[in-house]
Amino acid sequence: MAAAEEGQWVLMATGRSPTNIAVIKYWGKRDEALILPVNDSISVTLDPDHLSATTTVAVSPSFPSDRMWLNGKEISLSGGRFQSCLREIRKRAQDVEDEKKGIRIKKEDWGKLHVHIASYNNFPTAAGLASSAAGLVCFVFTLGNLMNVKEDYGELSSIARQGSGSACRSIYGGFVKWCMGKNNDGSDSIAVQLADEAHWNDLVIIIAVVSSKQKETSSTSGMRDSVETSPLLQYRAQRK
Ligand code: ADP
Repeated sequence: MAAAEEGQWVLMATGRSPTNIAVIKYWGKRDEALILPVNDSISVTLDPDHLSATTTVAVSPSFPSDRMWLNGKEISLSGGRFQSCLREIRKRAQDVEDEKKGIRIKKEDWGKLHVHIASYNNFPTAAGLASSAAGLVCFVFTLGNLMNVKEDYGELSSIARQGSGSACRSIYGGFVKWCMGKNNDGSDSIAVQLADEAHWNDLVIIIAVVSSKQKETSSTSGMRDSVETSPLLQYRAQRK
C-alpha cells in the first residue's frame, strides 16, 4: 500500500445494474444464511435505463469504518446480506494500481481498508419492484471492480445471491435462469443466461406503480411463512 499510509487519497468505482422480473418465481429458501432456494427460477432483466441501481464505492485510508448510504440516507451495513457480500469480495481482492494518483494497494491490504458506499435507485425502493436485486448485484459488481476481483460472472452471481437471492439473476441481461443447485455450500446455485437482451427485441414490459410505499411483508418473512406453512409450496418444489 505505497501511498496508503501517507496520503489522504480516495479511490472510487461506480456501476449501474438493472432489476429483473421473474417469469418463474423464486419463493422459499432451503438455507436462509446462504440463500439457497427450493426451486429454479427464470427472470427477464430490465433495461438499466429504466429501472436500475447506481452505486459508487470509495476506499480511503482515512475511512475508520465501512459505511453505506441508500438514496441519500445512511443505512446499517451490519446485516448478514451486506456482510456476506463484503466478506466474499474482500477475500477475492487483488492488487490495485492507479498510476496517475500514485496509489498502490496490495491484495493483503484490503482487509485493513474500509469502504464508503452510496447507492441510488431510480425507482421505488422496497416496494415490490426488486430493488434488492438491482441493489445487491450492483453492490457486489462495483466492489469487485474497485478491488480488481477477477472472478467470472457465475462466481459473482453466487456472491450476489448471498446478498439477495434474485440479485444473482441481474448479473446478465436477457432471460436468466437461477439454478437452485444441489451442493450444501451453494457453489452450484448460480445464474446462467438463457438468451441475451437482443433475443426478443420487441418485448416491452409495462410496470404500473400503484403504490410506492414500503411493502408490509418483506420477501424474507413471506418466504419463511410459506416454507413453514404451505403444502402447495412443498408440492411445487417437489414436482418441478
Ligand atoms: P424489493 O421488493 O424492492 O426488493 P425488499 O424489501 O426485498 O424490497 O428489499 C429492499 C432492501 O434491499 C432495502 O431495504 C435495502 O436493504 C436493499 N436495497 C435496496 N436497494 C438497494 C441498493 N441500491 N443498494 C443496496 N441495497 C439495496
